[in-house]
Amino acid sequence: MGKPKANVDKKKCLACGGCISVCPQDAISWIGNKAEVNPEKCISCAICIRTCPIGAISGEGY
Ligand code: SF4
Ligand code: SF4
Repeated sequence: MGKPKANVDKKKCLACGGCISVCPQDAISWIGNKAEVNPEKCISCAICIRTCPIGAISGEGY
């Protein structure tokens, strides 16, 4: 199963685009006006979690 994938809390997301520009897997895209992680592409590197200015992205265990 591997590590859990990153997940965006859409209620918190401010649509700044930071996570989308840093994801090395191109796993985050806009769904409507919020960022959303594609779990098929996410490798749980946590770069987006460290990048999000308001802590809207979480990933259990990393
Ligand atoms: S954890 Fe890494 S691979 Fe997954 S969405 Fe965030 S930046 Fe992309
Ligand atoms: S970095 Fe955070 S606030 Fe910015 S688009 Fe991504 S999830 Fe939303």
